[in-house]
Amino acid sequence: MSSALEILRRDFGGDIIEPGEAEYESASRTVLAAGSPAYVLRRESVGDLRAGVKFAAGAGHVLSARGGGHSFAGFGTNDGGVVIDLRKFASVEIIDSERHLVRIGGGATWGQVLAAMAPHGLAISSGDTKSVGVGGLTLTGGIGWKVRKYGLALDNLVAAEMVTANGDVVRASAGERPELFWAIRGGGGNFGIVTAFEFAAHPTTEVFHGKIAFPASEAGTVLQGWADYLRTAPEELTAIVTFANPFAGGPNAPVEIEVAFDGDDPELAAHALDPIRRLGPVIEDDVALKPYADVLVEGMVPPPGIELVTRSGFVDKESVSDVLQILTEVGASEGSPIMAVRSVGGAVSRVRDDATAYAHRQAELMFSTTILGPRPAIEAARPALEAMWARLAPRVNGAYANFLSSVTDEDVAAIYPSETHKRLAAVKGQYDPDNLFAHNHNVRPQ
Ligand SMILES: Cc1cc2nc3c(=O)[nH]c(=O)nc-3n(C[C@H](O)[C@H](O)[C@H](O)COP(=O)(O)OP(=O)(O)OC[C@H]3O[C@@H](n4cnc5c(N)ncnc54)[C@H](O)[C@@H]3O)c2cc1C
Repeated sequence: MSSALEILRRDFGGDIIEPGEAEYESASRTVLAAGSPAYVLRRESVGDLRAGVKFAAGAGHVLSARGGGHSFAGFGTNDGGVVIDLRKFASVEIIDSERHLVRIGGGATWGQVLAAMAPHGLAISSGDTKSVGVGGLTLTGGIGWKVRKYGLALDNLVAAEMVTANGDVVRASAGERPELFWAIRGGGGNFGIVTAFEFAAHPTTEVFHGKIAFPASEAGTVLQGWADYLRTAPEELTAIVTFANPFAGGPNAPVEIEVAFDGDDPELAAHALDPIRRLGPVIEDDVALKPYADVLVEGMVPPPGIELVTRSGFVDKESVSDVLQILTEVGASEGSPIMAVRSVGGAVSRVRDDATAYAHRQAELMFSTTILGPRPAIEAARPALEAMWARLAPRVNGAYANFLSSVTDEDVAAIYPSETHKRLAAVKGQYDPDNLFAHNHNVRPQ
């Protein structure tokens, strides 16, 4: 009888990259993880992808789907298992110009999507970085520059085509396998490999975007004033506040409010942005009108040996002041993590908590803390980080999986409230009963 590997070699029409081959080093690593898989499989063909999934299942290998490769937890690669590299699934096609429906390959990056849609005056709110993958970001959320107006990236998803654990090709949408469609909008890579996403895009003009910065000493009032203002600010306005960045002065780093106003009318933009300018003494303001595609940045690849520890939390209205105060206090000390606080709310909150597996709909803010450096520096910084999170814990309501480098049962419980988790486990039992797709914030099958 043929071995699983012999069957793979017979059935798989693409590259099977193994240790020792010239391409192995680049094929096995993602942006944030080295990885040492036994096989990296690469080809743009759903039939071959099915063969790869069947091989991993039959041979008992850990399986990673690799999209844009930006997972903080390194989910796009593994040690000793199989990586299915989706980067060749990168097509972007407008399939219905009246309804603005766009079909996107499961391994495309947001940079590729923006470049293809810009000539049609269309966009999808995704994230802040071009090299991030459509797959990982969408399946777990997608908090981007138009999030308050158009919701999460996954709120704009209308259908997905997937290869499930037994090698079946299925379609999920509101009308086809609705429970699976519910699960993949927040449940990450737990349910199969998406070969194509279909989104309802939105028309876009140029947008106002840039940074409004304040001295570090103003952090407390600026943060609180910004959070208060967001409750009444136009939903065209989305913002990310970054402070305590050790690469910009640590406790003396300016408080930077990066803003995007979705629209090209200068008066409306000024009306939305001026209250932010009045929050304190402005030391930099480079807000300008630019193509939406230029708002996203190219991602950076950290040098070898540099590790990142990223944690995130959602903040409901009643805890906003307390959380911002703790972040401000810690940010004023040497050795603080990089703090980034994002506005959510708006269109995200108008969707019911149980409408998708992303359930943290009522949060006003999502924040993340990041420390980075060589391992000894990370270990030295860890006790202070833990102490900070112990203070935050009673005031934080869950975690955003896309900004989480750890993978514990507590993390999974923070990502999925218990009702969501129960429902996800039932869908998992139906589509992946042997838990083939386990290398993620894993929902075990029920
Ligand atoms: C520099 C940087 C900037 C970021 N900015 C933002 C931001 O602005 N907003 C935001 O919301 N998030 C942001 N993120 C977080 C980002 O959304 C996650 O890291 C996301 O998981 C990356 O997806 P990926 O496809 O690039 O990663 P990968 O590592 O390739 O995949 C991540 C996970 O998704 C699964 N997956 C990927 N594609 C598929 C597919 N087609 N089918 C099934 N499973 C798939 C993988 O198996 C893996 O489990 C950022 C991350 C980085 C590193």
